[in-house]
Amino acid sequence: MSNHLSDRIKNMSTSATLAMAAKARELRNEGKDIIGLSLGEPDFNIPDFIKDAAKQAIDENYSSYTPVDGYAELKAAISNKFKRDNNLDYGLNQIVVSTGAKQSLFNVAMVVLNPGDEVILPAPYWVSYSDIVKLAEGVPVEVTTQIDTDFKMTPAQLEAAITPKTRMIWFSSPCNPSGSVYSKEELEGLAEVLKKHPDIYVVSDEIYEHINFTDGGHTSIAGIDGMYDRTVTVNGVSKAFAMTGWRIGYIGAPEWIAKGCTKLQGQVTSGANAIAQRAVITALEAPVSKIQFMIDKFHERRDLVLGLLGEIEGFNLNVPEGAFYVFPDISDFFGKTLNGVTINNASDFSLYLLEHANVATVTGEAFGNPNCIRISYAASEKELKEAIARIKAVL
Ligand code: PMP
Ligand code: GLU
Repeated sequence: MSNHLSDRIKNMSTSATLAMAAKARELRNEGKDIIGLSLGEPDFNIPDFIKDAAKQAIDENYSSYTPVDGYAELKAAISNKFKRDNNLDYGLNQIVVSTGAKQSLFNVAMVVLNPGDEVILPAPYWVSYSDIVKLAEGVPVEVTTQIDTDFKMTPAQLEAAITPKTRMIWFSSPCNPSGSVYSKEELEGLAEVLKKHPDIYVVSDEIYEHINFTDGGHTSIAGIDGMYDRTVTVNGVSKAFAMTGWRIGYIGAPEWIAKGCTKLQGQVTSGANAIAQRAVITALEAPVSKIQFMIDKFHERRDLVLGLLGEIEGFNLNVPEGAFYVFPDISDFFGKTLNGVTINNASDFSLYLLEHANVATVTGEAFGNPNCIRISYAASEKELKEAIARIKAVL
């Protein structure tokens, strides 16, 4: 039987983060002692008060289709969260609940982009952005940022990347994979450039908002003068509440974008899972202090990992101020041969660590930076210490 796989799927890359996690799982099943630092997934259990809310929802028979854009009570909890944490006013008609922030991003791309529209992606960017943009027939335009500007896009770089075809800019702060956090002043600098280009929209992916170690805290670009009507604020519960498998994400957006996302979702998923939505009402109504212990742990681990990796010659590191990743530049190893393996690029390096140190990481190529690898420190201190000792030994 011939294979009629669509060009759309043929031309798409497999998610490198999920692929590496699957490879690590496969090797573990073969009996190998793999330490998985490839996936951005908190290693904490979901707090009990959230689990209890889900159990109650089952008992109360929340088993029917939900409104396509999410339960009104959940949207009210999201609206209150936006006000409480971000000082943003989003009405219920501006909020759409989806099956993970990943689907929220996909919806927005499908709703805003026409074929050939350009989307500026400051690189390194989160692994799925470029493929989601391409699926929507948009054109990703990478803006390479450097480790010495902490992997942040400057206003001048933004200005230089804008063309008459630019329709959107997508970025995450705190950033996956670099851990960089844009300050209020830095976002104001970008907003100043955008004032001259009123038809460009911004996707601000704030899924790591709470995992932020800066004194200045989190700033939402939608709160900056002139940006509210042209920003989609994306968030979710995968990271802050360790609810990755529950698959709930959401947006606050201009009403026309929210309406478009609901229309799309109505033909694709019919809405997000009912039980998970009920549990998320409880999660979002809780004070942030309930999850502070996780944030504190990530901060301690960040310091541990930076200290240990800093001892390895050839690792060049920025200081990540949020999320739970480090993104070392390892290009010093390119051209070298280690244990008979020649390292030509970051993918070779990441594969070498998997095969020789039994440590799973992700190549920076997947994030638009071929000189780096991403290491997730959402793992126990014991695993982190052991993993870095193994890495050091094979280098
Ligand atoms: N954005 C970023 C920056 C992420 O790291 C992730 C990780 N999963 C997502 C979006 C998607 O999150 P979700 O699990 O809610 O789909
Ligand atoms: N966001 C996580 C990561 O970057 C989870 C994997 C994924 O959704 O691709 O590792």
